[in-house]
Amino acid sequence: MSVGFSTKKTLEGGPPTTDMTYILPEAETAICFAVPLEKSKIRPYLGKEHPRGRFDHVIDNGDVYLKAYKYAKVAADFLEEKGYKSAPVINNFKYREDVPDWRTKLPPLLALRLVAARSGVGSIGWSGNILVKGYGAAVLLGALVTSAKLEPTDPIPPEESPCDKCKLCVSVCAFRMFDKKEEDSYALGGYTFSFSKRNNVSRCYAVCGGLSGLDKTRKWSTWSPGRTPYPETEEDADRTFAHLFTHPVKELRIVGEEGSYAESKLMHDKIAQEYISSGDIASNTFTENFILTCGNCQLICSGDQDETAENYRILTNSGCVVTKQNGDNLILSKEEADELEKAGEIANPYVETSERRQYVEKIVTDIFKRLRKEQSDAPF
Ligand code: SF4
Ligand code: SF4
Repeated sequence: MSVGFSTKKTLEGGPPTTDMTYILPEAETAICFAVPLEKSKIRPYLGKEHPRGRFDHVIDNGDVYLKAYKYAKVAADFLEEKGYKSAPVINNFKYREDVPDWRTKLPPLLALRLVAARSGVGSIGWSGNILVKGYGAAVLLGALVTSAKLEPTDPIPPEESPCDKCKLCVSVCAFRMFDKKEEDSYALGGYTFSFSKRNNVSRCYAVCGGLSGLDKTRKWSTWSPGRTPYPETEEDADRTFAHLFTHPVKELRIVGEEGSYAESKLMHDKIAQEYISSGDIASNTFTENFILTCGNCQLICSGDQDETAENYRILTNSGCVVTKQNGDNLILSKEEADELEKAGEIANPYVETSERRQYVEKIVTDIFKRLRKEQSDAPF
């Protein structure tokens, strides 16, 4: 596990989501750390191995998330006992509600990636994910904030970053959220951190949200059966997301797929249970319904050039998930999927419409259009 310490001073100049006092007014230090995902479960997920390739990783992913929260909670309780006000940071699925349009922007309570980069937990890769030596981006972050004044740690020098700018993370995002050339950056406490410009977050919301999964090349898909055409322009991306939002995929599981997050042992742990039932995170997140369809930009990147290239090969040869007219989801090769599509045997849930759906689509499109204009101010 990699650990780092940031203070209010070392986070100075960052976006509002690096303000640790939002979580705890007395906070002086943020302690951030990375917990690795189980590597052996990543390739079966990327390769859509049947029947357990997805859920072995989903269970690990959910458990590592809960583990990160648990470590933060235990450390915060320890510091409280020592007389310092402390609080674990909810590491996902809860957002800063004081930010305008927070429901659309989903601003984190604390931008863990920026805190992790500034405190040397890892290096920011081109995808914006944190890369840790030996693990690549296959880590989840956790953190706690405390009133204890601890010595800050330095960022990892750029020449030691495991990111070699291979840009494979760009090509494994089915809707290409990351720009291949243009950069964005943040300055924090005297250091600048650069990564790819986000073309439009609605591209990730559509794909990572499981609403669509077919890659731009139409040769492979995520675990989602959604086969929406690639949005070429950002206006298209807004419209596509708005349309998909009003036509959610009804069934994400594949016929014969085995496993469920109900198998998680950690879900029944006392601290995890208190957390899950606290109402602090989106309901249904860690139930037997917990499921993932993407995460490719993170999972592909192993921090080793050859391993990442092999992960890319596995994903792009993993076939496509499609929904047949009878509602069954299957994994097929590109050729089989194309043939079925030509024969009109793939279900198309996107054609149904109604006045209500059109009304909601218009609202969503307008919000995204406005937010794109403000993108440069968007919280990380
Ligand atoms: S895949 Fe990883 S190493 Fe390659 S550019 Fe993206 S973040 Fe960097
Ligand atoms: S999680 Fe998936 S959809 Fe979202 S940015 Fe990464 S690759 Fe793209």
